[in-house]
Amino acid sequence: MAENKVRVRFAPSPTGGLHLGGVRTVLFNYLFARHNKGEFILRIEDTDQTRFVPGAEAYIFECLQWCGLQPDESPLHGGPYAPYRQSERKPIYRQYAEELVKKGYAYYAFDTPEELEEMRTRFKTAENPAPQYNHVLRNEMRNSLTLGEEAVTRLLGEEAPYVIRIKMPVQETITFTDMIRGEVSFESSRSDDKVLLKADGMPTYHLAVVVDDYLMKITHAFRGEEWLPSAPVHIMLWKYLFGLENMPQWAHLPLILKPDGNGKLSKRDGDRLGFPVFAMNWTDPKTNELTQGFRERGFLPEAFVNMLAMLGWNDGTEQEVFSMDEL
Ligand code: GLU
Repeated sequence: MAENKVRVRFAPSPTGGLHLGGVRTVLFNYLFARHNKGEFILRIEDTDQTRFVPGAEAYIFECLQWCGLQPDESPLHGGPYAPYRQSERKPIYRQYAEELVKKGYAYYAFDTPEELEEMRTRFKTAENPAPQYNHVLRNEMRNSLTLGEEAVTRLLGEEAPYVIRIKMPVQETITFTDMIRGEVSFESSRSDDKVLLKADGMPTYHLAVVVDDYLMKITHAFRGEEWLPSAPVHIMLWKYLFGLENMPQWAHLPLILKPDGNGKLSKRDGDRLGFPVFAMNWTDPKTNELTQGFRERGFLPEAFVNMLAMLGWNDGTEQEVFSMDEL
């Protein structure tokens, strides 16, 4: 049935070149889609203007092409759920954020950066060195939960800057089944009231990822395990907005570690596979060096993809080289 078609997505933020970990996430999504005769979507998550790197989106497309991992739908290829670039979908996110406020699941917060800083200092204790905007402290702040309706209407009328925050439940166990880890549970009281819509009208990742996965009919989401701590917020959004209907199945992929197992492989690992897929057309501002990637170092794309597939997996035989079809 068309309704149940497998749809997966890779959703990079255009903040720089792609590294091993990013391409492995693409590969898992891509292979899962191919295996299930499904569709692979590339969505550009460019809502954080402060981290935007010009040229990074073109880099991502070139990289996927070099690796032979072409999406079925993307800002470049089009598709039925366009636009696939989040900065072009701003009104959609606002509409959902306002809907959450109306239903009482989110609220306007008018606190200035100074007020937030003051809160962090005032409530800092030895047990709580980094106080968060949560179910306790939200009662101390300037938001639509504490200000009367009149004050809120006045502030909105004066165009005072505000953000919209999710109202996390005070006490609720949030549980979901991860395709890799099995059942995972979180206590809602440990999560802060994350910002959903920023003062500049851009959504944060949390709101945009849930809205787009819903609207783009994503069935399975493979992403790095660094996103696991965000899962409770995403699940609450799925619950508040869509009654959990058609929530994708999540798979949080373990990170690729440094060769000595000590921490996440990063750019700083340079010669030890920490470099990007191919050189970016810019100099690394920290080292002043033109970045060298796998492509410049003579790796063939087939070998590169094969290496990624073999990281932490084999098919139980002695075979070490697989074609894309075999994978
Ligand atoms: N935009 C996120 C990133 O850059 C995507 C995370 C996800 O796949 O949900 O990693």
